[in-house]
Amino acid sequence: MSLFNLNDRVAIVTGGNGGIGLGMAEGMAAAGASILIVGRNSAKNDSAIEKLRSTGSKAEVFQIDVTETDAGLKIVNAALDAFGRLDILVNNAGNGIRKRPEDLTLEDFRWVLETNLTSAFICSQAAYPSMKKTGGGKIINIGSMYSLFGAPYVTAYSVSKGGLVQMTKSMATAWASDNIQVNAILPGWIDTELTQRARQELEGLYERQLARIPHGRWGTPEDHAGIAIFLSSSASDYITGTSIPVDGGFSISG
Ligand code: NDP
Repeated sequence: MSLFNLNDRVAIVTGGNGGIGLGMAEGMAAAGASILIVGRNSAKNDSAIEKLRSTGSKAEVFQIDVTETDAGLKIVNAALDAFGRLDILVNNAGNGIRKRPEDLTLEDFRWVLETNLTSAFICSQAAYPSMKKTGGGKIINIGSMYSLFGAPYVTAYSVSKGGLVQMTKSMATAWASDNIQVNAILPGWIDTELTQRARQELEGLYERQLARIPHGRWGTPEDHAGIAIFLSSSASDYITGTSIPVDGGFSISG
């Protein structure tokens, strides 16, 4: 059996209806996994499902806002109902509010943390019993360059993304003996709806970041397919608690 084969594996991808989430979902589906896409927007959900199924993949969708209190259990139950097991959880749903710290309301701060960090906590906690029962699993958290760096407009976002890296380490130590590996991916500057919005708000953002990317281009959602397959397959069975940049060298460029 290939180290990268995901046949008979079932994966949840929160925020899998577009951007980086869909790039990872397409990669894992091509490697054989069945996928449950989670998102709020039904038009985006439908189009992602159509795209995945058009390549012969088994894919289902679950429409929910991950900030709902019991979203974790509902999402995991939807995967179990659809496919009967759960092997891989990708905590990718994310958002930000671009304000300086002195302008960020408590409500803004809490919303970003609930969307990016608390959702990953409740989904991971909900996934744990069934992964433990079937003898193991893979959890992949999507951090950011702001897991490593700060900037004036990303206080809540960087707290959430830094927190994801620490949560990755703690859960990795807690669940290693259950054969559950927990790792994080730290995307660099990737061309998606999220950064299209940022580019509209911040003039010159595209060129400024491009100048620091040794690879010489912004990333694409498809650039995350390989790392998603690697971290969800048996190729990464002895790797846990780590955070891997997918950034064309941005984070090591002085
Ligand atoms: P997109 O805006 O394209 O995708 C975000 C996804 O998250 C969508 O599928 C969206 O679905 C879903 N989502 C957002 N909020 C919720 C919610 N409350 N409940 C359910 N689903 C939700 O952005 P990206 O693909 O760029 O972002 C994906 C992840 O990658 C995020 O965690 C982001 O922080 C991270 N990231 C992105 C980088 C980049 O340069 N693009 C860099 C570093 C990290 P819907 O619209 O249906 O709610």
